[in-house]
Amino acid sequence: MSSNASSSTDKLSPAEIAALRPDTRLVHGGILRSPFGETAEALYLTQGYVYDTAEQAEARFKGEDPGFIYTRYSNPTAAMFETRLALLEGAEMARATASGMAAVTAALLCQLKAGDHVVAARALFGSCRYVIEELLPRFGVASTLVDGTDLDAWKAAIRPETKVLFLESPTNPTLELVDIAAVAEISKAAGACLVVDNVFATPMLQSPLALGADVVVYSATKHIDGQGRCLAGVVLGSEKFLTDHLQTFLRQTGPSVSPFNAWVMLKGLETLPLRIERAQASATTLADRLAAQPGVTKVIYPYRADHPQYDLARRQMRGGGTLVTFEVEGGKAGAFRFLNALKVARISNNLGDAKSLVTHPATTTHQRFTPEARAQMGISDGMVRLSVGLEHVDDLTDDAVRALQAL
Ligand SMILES: *Cc1c(COP(=O)(O)O)cnc(C)c1O
Repeated sequence: MSSNASSSTDKLSPAEIAALRPDTRLVHGGILRSPFGETAEALYLTQGYVYDTAEQAEARFKGEDPGFIYTRYSNPTAAMFETRLALLEGAEMARATASGMAAVTAALLCQLKAGDHVVAARALFGSCRYVIEELLPRFGVASTLVDGTDLDAWKAAIRPETKVLFLESPTNPTLELVDIAAVAEISKAAGACLVVDNVFATPMLQSPLALGADVVVYSATKHIDGQGRCLAGVVLGSEKFLTDHLQTFLRQTGPSVSPFNAWVMLKGLETLPLRIERAQASATTLADRLAAQPGVTKVIYPYRADHPQYDLARRQMRGGGTLVTFEVEGGKAGAFRFLNALKVARISNNLGDAKSLVTHPATTTHQRFTPEARAQMGISDGMVRLSVGLEHVDDLTDDAVRALQAL
């Protein structure tokens, strides 16, 4: 059985579920309830499935009998997660993967071949940049990196053989925005496929498909789990893209999600709106409080009026998100003193956790770049990225103010 947004649940028809508000869909969408009538979604920890007859096995392989074949292909728990997220995103279909990077790699490789060309925004999650800059060219797929905020640069980079445009917005760690609707127009005019990595905005705050993107990818590891436990990824798009390109690639190459991890993510979706609302409210407050502190030289937050792309943020996002980036005085030494003095927010390169996590991008996630390349990306030595969690905002404020005194 292929997972899609029309899987049924007990009483609500697919049409009725689609008419529910997003928060309700995230609790009731996609349930495949077993004959035991369990309240909570079951964890189907199985590799395979048995058939009643040889005829049924034959029909299942022919695609004439709906049902599961092997967990590398699909699994009921993974299918529930996929359907539920597709309902939120407004996508025809979704497929879960073992990690966010498996989702990104699959979304690209499943549709590219030697001779094709990819255009991507330069400010990308480090591993995404590796895939585009180093991995694809090894297989004859050329790539061009552009300043994602410069629409003329996107246009100028298009070639007759351009097949995919790739971007993330807001970007890591400088929270720069790319105008998704404008890049989608450029992509459509070129007959290309626009793939958007929507991790930083989360499905709650930005809907790339509605803005014209063709494919959305997530690291579910981040806000969808939201409690720092498991890795998973998701690719969402049209039924045509998934059946023509993605499904076969995933089936045959095997970056399948573990049913256990899919179950954790599925349950994570139930509380996603609450968690994002809370973390975002704290991030908004913290951004303003930090900006008023001595020792803080700059605060970057998409919903602050001093963000250079504030208008675009209001247009394409439904909130400023859960990440705040700021600069402290004293360059690397100042940033290290600040990080080391924090007691509630912990030092980690991860994000989207219930626990607030703080990162020094220049020496960790963006260490492999030269100082010039970092400067080009706007990453300074005093820059700190804060992923705001679910703690009380006043405790986070006290922690930051105390740590700033260490400067
Ligand atoms: C974390 C992340 C990824 C990779 O996800 P994994 O689950 O760690 O493989 C890709 N893109 C962005 C923007 C991320 O933050």
